[in-house]
Amino acid sequence: MLTVENTLKWLELFNAKIQAEKDYLSELDTPIGDGDHGNNMSRGLLAVHEALTTQSATDVPSILKTTAMMLISKVGGASGPLYGTAFLEMAKLSSTTLEVAPLLAAGLAGIQKRGHAQVGEKTLIDVWTPVIQAVEADMLDGATIETAVMATKDMQATKGRASYVGERSIGHIDPGAASSGYLFTTMLMAGVV
Ligand code: ADP
Ligand code: MG
Ligand code: MG
Repeated sequence: MLTVENTLKWLELFNAKIQAEKDYLSELDTPIGDGDHGNNMSRGLLAVHEALTTQSATDVPSILKTTAMMLISKVGGASGPLYGTAFLEMAKLSSTTLEVAPLLAAGLAGIQKRGHAQVGEKTLIDVWTPVIQAVEADMLDGATIETAVMATKDMQATKGRASYVGERSIGHIDPGAASSGYLFTTMLMAGVV
């Protein structure tokens, strides 16, 4: 269940993790993309952090909406609109429910509506999908997240920039899957689920 307190804690932990792993995320994006995923996410989460510490958001929908707006406006590249849309869909639904599983499912639906990717195409969807299934079963743990991130290594990318390198995308972890892994490990750390 999301609360103002655990949502703010989650986003703060996610920001810290993204800043710490910025270089690693850009390294993952180098062989199969344009080497900017860490920089993109770092810029976006820094803007989220600044917005949430200067504005005093007092309800979950406005925290999620501010997050969405910062990600959409500050992150260049594919990942900004995708993460931004996910948070925007979560923001909309959060005025009706604060249950985590339906909120994340709405976020994933937004990502898929925007990016048209399916499971197995080596994108962040390959982490969001099993994570949501685990949350629904009340069984999410760090191992589930790690397994989902690592499973993208053997996939061939058929969406996004990584699809340009075709078969050569096989053997590399997807950077967006890795950043989504951090989104969900920090969600666990914040006690959201
Ligand atoms: P860009 O590729 O524009 O440089 P980033 O490097 O920030 O953007 O983000 C790349 C990540 O975005 C990929 O690793 C992948 O997980 C995700 N991605 C790209 N295209 C799609 C898509 N159509 N649907 C879902 N996720 C996608
Ligand atoms: Mg990139
Ligand atoms: Mg780019």
